[in-house]
Amino acid sequence: MEGQLADQLSRRSVSPDARGMLLYVTIGHAAYLATDGSVWLEGGDEDPGSVQWSLAKPVERIGALFIATKYYPELQELLPPRPSDAPTCTQCAGRGHVFAEVVCPSCGGLGWVSDEAA
Ligand SMILES: [Zn+2]
Repeated sequence: MEGQLADQLSRRSVSPDARGMLLYVTIGHAAYLATDGSVWLEGGDEDPGSVQWSLAKPVERIGALFIATKYYPELQELLPPRPSDAPTCTQCAGRGHVFAEVVCPSCGGLGWVSDEAA
């Protein structure tokens, strides 16, 4: 039983087409990190039998990586460093979250506005 679960989890940690590692899963979609650093979103499909992929927009990529740093702290390296002149995000007032654990859609959880998120 434990072996089965571990096997399922390890298989789930790679995208169905084996091109990326799972960053997180939530209701309606999952995010995967590809070997080239791009982030791909799976889901949002109306047909349960089909898989739809979309390339994450820059702020979505940052948000997905930010969420995944909870599970994989080493992914912090892929987040942009804050420049000294970067403005604090006005939507979340620098908290990185807009409501409970919902990552800020403007800054992707950084708490400041990155040129990469623009
Ligand atoms: Zn923000």
